[in-house]
Amino acid sequence: MRLQLLLIFSGFFSIGLLSAQKAERTCGAPPEINSWLAAYQQNPAAFPRSPDTLYVPLTIHLVGSDEGKGYFQAYRVLDAFCMLNQDYEPANIQFYLSGPFRYINSDKYFDHNYSGGIEMMSNNNQPNTINCYIVGNPAGNCGYALYSLGVALNKSCLGESDHTWAHEIGHYLSLPHTFNGWEGLEPDFNQPAPSMVNGRPVELADGSNCQLAGDGFCDTPADYLNFRWACQGNGLSPQQQKDPQGRLFRSDGSLLMSYALDDCANRLSLAQVEAVRANLEGPRVNLLSDHISPMPLAVPPAIPISPEQGQLITNVSFLELAWPAVQNAEGYVVELNLLSPLGAEQPFMVYYAEEASLEIRGLLSERSWAWRVRPYNRFDGCAPFSETFSFDTGNFISNTTEQASFSDFRVHPNPQAAGEAVRVEFELPYAFYLQLTLYSSTGQYVRHQPLDAHYGHNEITLSTAGLPAGLYWLGIEHTGGRKFIKIILQ
Ligand SMILES: [Zn+2]
Repeated sequence: MRLQLLLIFSGFFSIGLLSAQKAERTCGAPPEINSWLAAYQQNPAAFPRSPDTLYVPLTIHLVGSDEGKGYFQAYRVLDAFCMLNQDYEPANIQFYLSGPFRYINSDKYFDHNYSGGIEMMSNNNQPNTINCYIVGNPAGNCGYALYSLGVALNKSCLGESDHTWAHEIGHYLSLPHTFNGWEGLEPDFNQPAPSMVNGRPVELADGSNCQLAGDGFCDTPADYLNFRWACQGNGLSPQQQKDPQGRLFRSDGSLLMSYALDDCANRLSLAQVEAVRANLEGPRVNLLSDHISPMPLAVPPAIPISPEQGQLITNVSFLELAWPAVQNAEGYVVELNLLSPLGAEQPFMVYYAEEASLEIRGLLSERSWAWRVRPYNRFDGCAPFSETFSFDTGNFISNTTEQASFSDFRVHPNPQAAGEAVRVEFELPYAFYLQLTLYSSTGQYVRHQPLDAHYGHNEITLSTAGLPAGLYWLGIEHTGGRKFIKIILQ
């Protein structure tokens, strides 16, 4: 089914795929060379290339559900963006964020098939940038690239050490897989390979037909591995392969356009770099602008401005976090962590600030807090966090509005028979560290359960074993507030 789809689309678009199937993460990209690349490879010298740094704008589309849920978090985009730029640094190509992240609410695009992806890109693309869509499920893949439209990426394949983005942008800028031709086949590695696969000559292990075979690059050695594989210590594939002349070889796992797993693959070959640069300065010259000045980020601050390190805060209803502005920063990621009674830092709230300060409302009293900031700008997602700062909120009666950020907090059945479990449900806009607490009607603390609650719908079973019938208060408490609900045990 997938192959049929690909064959249909390959007539219109050059598609590169990185599959997200957990077990195999296999590939289904069409076994063909992009027509521009085919012309380039016949005579690379005819395609002009400059030695300058090429600045390439990206538009980041963060796709969530109809209800605006499930977005890939912005600070994680910065991590992935950092890795993307590291991957292309040897090519002297610098990607930058063109404009703010664009949020799209659409179930249809969040989990899409290829026709949905084409529609998504056609309806939302921004001109003169590489449009990158981060979704929940890009047609069953880790990612794919449509040469004439853009790149779709699976948010689960964009960890800070993943190279999926670099791989898909490689496709977008004309590169085929190093195993080009073998897509969708099941080679028998005990036999010499045939001389042709999918209409493409098979590359010999000695490279003698490299210009016409495989990916058409002579500095990417023969590779027939069309499934995700882990490289060995020497960077080569555990799987031995046999070329059409019966010569044994192993694949090079360092190449981004291979299917070696992310911890091996980290480079483009020189010939691939030349092709990508020629592509940018040729058919993609609309992406390049002469008016770019990079903005190097200064070092993040080591001390806060407000509150002072270790300060005891008495007014928990409103607090301003402030830090020394970092030169060239266009925004900051701010992490606020709650220190648990055991001293461990618990998962945090993440905030974004455009200036070097942030207002926090409704903190809980009697807690210890840790926070840190990380600057970024359109060129640089790699800046580290600042030192970790801390403060305490004192034992004061809070005049906080106690506005909790969760919703749909409910318990059922309610009333419930004493001793029987109840089901607690709520929705969260972020992953939170929560405390679930049960108080008797006289305010006595009866039960306590710390929870590492996740984004979206949460459902927890709460035991009432051993509790007498009566009225209780169930509370959810977290860094942003608390909320109570009445429970009756009969
Ligand atoms: Zn691919």
